[in-house]
Amino acid sequence: MKSGYTTGRWSNGLAEWTQGDTAFLSVAFTWRLDDAYMRALWYRAQGYRVRAGGPGIFTRKHYLADVAEIGGEIPDAIARHNPMATFASRGCPVGCWFCIVPKMEGRDFTLLPEFEPRPVLCDNNLSALPADYQSHIVQRYRAAGVPLLDANSGFEPATFDDEVYERWAPINRGPWRFGYDETTEGAQVQRVMQMLRARDMRPHRIRVYVMIGAEPFAACMDRIRRVIDWGGEPHCQPFIKLNALHKKPNVRHDWTPGLLTDVARWANRRYWKYTDFADYQRSGAAARAQGHDDLFEGAAA
Ligand code: SF4
Repeated sequence: MKSGYTTGRWSNGLAEWTQGDTAFLSVAFTWRLDDAYMRALWYRAQGYRVRAGGPGIFTRKHYLADVAEIGGEIPDAIARHNPMATFASRGCPVGCWFCIVPKMEGRDFTLLPEFEPRPVLCDNNLSALPADYQSHIVQRYRAAGVPLLDANSGFEPATFDDEVYERWAPINRGPWRFGYDETTEGAQVQRVMQMLRARDMRPHRIRVYVMIGAEPFAACMDRIRRVIDWGGEPHCQPFIKLNALHKKPNVRHDWTPGLLTDVARWANRRYWKYTDFADYQRSGAAARAQGHDDLFEGAAA
């Protein structure tokens, strides 16, 4: 095993670089579009031709159209966002309504068999890939001696079974990630968590993405509690519209912006280990009222 591998650092959604007389902007999130626009203007003022692409462009293709050429393939742009990251496939056949992947990359997988193994594997849905291609990815990591430190989009409960686990277990050194975004997924998520717990997997290695805000508060909190009760750790992601120009959650049902923030903090900073949500909210409100946000923020992080 080679040493010195890490999970790297992410670009915070906007990567830029130059090659010859061309400046490239890769925009991961729509809320970085205003920054990308300013960077494009700056590069043009320096005499560069500007090209722009990425998921952040997809739902607002015209946003940069007057300052950059949009689209076209830029191989391995992910490495500009994080040099430790890679993709071995694109696309996803599942088609979740809230996800940009099938719309942008298609519902048929595009396989990239010559991919370069790096510690962060960003494929959208590893367990739904053809079994022989999953084995190919695993084999390529082993042959290269590169550790898989984080499969950061991970596995999908519907297709994550014993066979998938046995295939990836020899190389996966990071958490097992999968989503529990809607109440209807409960039985599948429980089955996967039982499978992992039966193998004595520690809770911090069972990392479950829990989308909050698209269902009412009680339903989202129920999913969070189930993840904890079933022996994993929830990672809450407030629902943000695919074309949002600001990194602000879409507020629906009985949610408020503050409630979304509080739930995400309570879950993602693991405050649930020390206090239930109601007490957390009360202590947080008291700390804020006394101007002690800093104390409150650092309490159990
Ligand atoms: S399974 Fe994951 S990658 Fe596929 S559509 Fe759903 S959220 Fe997107």
